[in-house]
Amino acid sequence: MKKFNTFFCSIFIVLQFLFLFIYFSVSLAEESQKTVDLAYEYCRIVDVAPASGPIPANLLSYKGYLYESIRIQSSAELLRAMRAGSEEDLSDEQKGLFKAFNHGSSDNMKKRLSYASECNIPDNSISVYLLDTTFIQGVERSKLRNDLWPMAIGNKIILSCIDRSPTDTASLLAHETSHTVDNINLNLIDYGKDKRHHLNEVSTKSTAFSEGWAIFNQYYDFPSTAMLPSKLMYETASSAFGHPDYVMRSLTDSEVAPEDFLKTEGVVSEILFHIAHQIPDGFDKIFKSFLKIRNDNSKDITSLINVLLDSYPEDSKKIMEIFARDTASRFSSEEFKKSFPNHFKDIHKKKSLIKIKHSLFRRGS
Ligand SMILES: [Zn+2]
Repeated sequence: MKKFNTFFCSIFIVLQFLFLFIYFSVSLAEESQKTVDLAYEYCRIVDVAPASGPIPANLLSYKGYLYESIRIQSSAELLRAMRAGSEEDLSDEQKGLFKAFNHGSSDNMKKRLSYASECNIPDNSISVYLLDTTFIQGVERSKLRNDLWPMAIGNKIILSCIDRSPTDTASLLAHETSHTVDNINLNLIDYGKDKRHHLNEVSTKSTAFSEGWAIFNQYYDFPSTAMLPSKLMYETASSAFGHPDYVMRSLTDSEVAPEDFLKTEGVVSEILFHIAHQIPDGFDKIFKSFLKIRNDNSKDITSLINVLLDSYPEDSKKIMEIFARDTASRFSSEEFKKSFPNHFKDIHKKKSLIKIKHSLFRRGS
């Protein structure tokens, strides 16, 4: 009888372990598959909204325009909604929206959306509004382009494709998705007196980092769209909203302060792009580091690099070489010390890192 009991006891314990093993395996599998979904809405812009009075019951309004809205789950549904039999029938603008929709299920986007699942996005869902202006008449394209500018607002992405290439529009999906994971205080975003921003414009560290982060993500998915600044651009005293005015300066101009590189979105994206391609698993290391500082309102490119140096000391030499090169070797020892205080000694030990000569500096390498 005792033997009998021991036998059943052992079976019971084995079953318990088996149950726990299965439970934790399933939980881990679910954890690793966590992702954010993209919920697409095709928006056919049909008219300008009336100045007053009600709008027709079957239409919605956005920024002074009326549109029909259709939920989309497959490319076949999108083609039907665009009133096209095949891809060849699409207007240039629709081709961009179609390419963006298909890019949403690419491996890079899947990876990005799985990281996004750590960002408390409501319902783990991002709504993507594909604005199609093929069917509206009597409105200038430049006005449509300005009015319906692509953007991310919270967990909503607005995409349009007016006078852009299809690839540019698809890359904007990566750009705007990257904005949705950035928990920056929008009051810190400063586009200057003209309220515009450009790849090579010197703005603020926060603005440059926010846009540079998003641009890096679009370059990562479509490297052929990468444009690296060869000069920096400054708003002049007379620049104003609607009347932008700039002065250009070369990267080695003495009036260009080393810190200005950190205030330029094209330099931020360039540094991240090079790190992603030149250190092993660079994209994942950058994304994981970004998630650690996404809630920090004072973050800039040096904050991200400091996290990378903390987390991946084996890559510090390469990262510092990239930083020195992409800031045109303008950072002195003192400036390196100020930007990377906890790593300065280590960096200093690695000979020549902060003494990369201008002659070694090559754009786009
Ligand atoms: Zn942006």
